[in-house]
Amino acid sequence: MRIAAADVVVTSPTRNFVTLKLTTDDGVTGLGDATLNGRELAVAAYLREHVAALLIGRDPARIEDTWQYLYRGAYWRRGPVTMAAIAAVDMALWDIKGKVCGVPVYQLLGGASREGLLAYGHASGTSFESLGESINMHLEKGYRAIRVQSSIPGVHAVYGVAAQAQASGERYDYEPAGRGAAPAQEDWDSAAYLRHVPKVFDYVRREFGPELPLLHDAHHRLRPIEAAKLGKSLEPHNLFWLEDCTPAESQQALRLVRQHTVTPLAIGEVFNTVWDFQQLISEQLIDYVRAASTHFGGITPLRKLMDFAAQYQIRSGFHGPTDVSPVGLAAQLHLGLAIHNFGIQEYMPHSEQTDVVFRQSMSFTDGMLHPGETPGLGVTLDEEAAARYPYQPAYLPISRLKDGTMHDW
Ligand SMILES: [Mg+2]
Repeated sequence: MRIAAADVVVTSPTRNFVTLKLTTDDGVTGLGDATLNGRELAVAAYLREHVAALLIGRDPARIEDTWQYLYRGAYWRRGPVTMAAIAAVDMALWDIKGKVCGVPVYQLLGGASREGLLAYGHASGTSFESLGESINMHLEKGYRAIRVQSSIPGVHAVYGVAAQAQASGERYDYEPAGRGAAPAQEDWDSAAYLRHVPKVFDYVRREFGPELPLLHDAHHRLRPIEAAKLGKSLEPHNLFWLEDCTPAESQQALRLVRQHTVTPLAIGEVFNTVWDFQQLISEQLIDYVRAASTHFGGITPLRKLMDFAAQYQIRSGFHGPTDVSPVGLAAQLHLGLAIHNFGIQEYMPHSEQTDVVFRQSMSFTDGMLHPGETPGLGVTLDEEAAARYPYQPAYLPISRLKDGTMHDW
């Protein structure tokens, strides 16, 4: 069997997705997610112009060799564009292998280690009352773990709060620019944030009790000593994790945080290779790996990363917002079901339009995700439906301090 075609499909059913479709000379197809939010067309071009022709005629069974061919063979390694492109090829090859063998991909990864995957949803509010309503809505939908984000007094618009002026609909819109040609602006004030967040968790624990697993995302906003302060101040509230408390280009920053707090730490949704995690894992500076299969080179390297992490009792918490396409999500569900050191899976349901373009075998029942039993990844792409939603420029917001200084978003 040989790869006969490599096609890139760009579609925007409420948000942009880049999908690689490989077809073998036997007519077997495999899908891979190459979506890089805000820079989608760079990956589409990388695949179309530099990868597709190299795949034609290759044996689709040789997943590891193809991964190394694209990673080592490019000479210019790492980075989100390169690793999203390689991820799409890797996922598509696992999808093909599953279909050829007649089994879901998790069976090829060692089989199920659990019955389902604990998922967490995104609750948020502009007030304690609306936050409480949002948590209740998620509990009614079956979620058993909740990420809590809140507006901050004196800060007009902040990351992760669904009901703000520039957000829309029931789901938080990560593209509040309304798909315009430039990103929307949000505001930031670390001092106001650090004063307010402990009060938010005072309220949530008082209303919802001590047992509900609660998560919080600081979204790379804090300096290390501020992150340490936040972790310490949230210790009485017993968080499941504190996410992205500081930018981690400098892995040493997490050492400072760790010296001051026992609040569990999760990081890595913007990381691309094991090298971004090497110090964090080997020095046990984190508790959860936030990598996404789509931005990490696919299932093959993420499996290796989790085996490395397992030696240090570090668990998975893979990135799962709606810009990880149903294909990328499926890749993570299969891996999460198979590995021993699964922790939790972020889960935001995709839009109805997205669910028409991508038909998924996965299920969400009583707060637990399962990839389903369809051979391969369990996702099919309706290309006619995809063609009805052409690409639209859309960017993540940017963040500025009160004096106009650009800040991390
Ligand atoms: Mg995050």
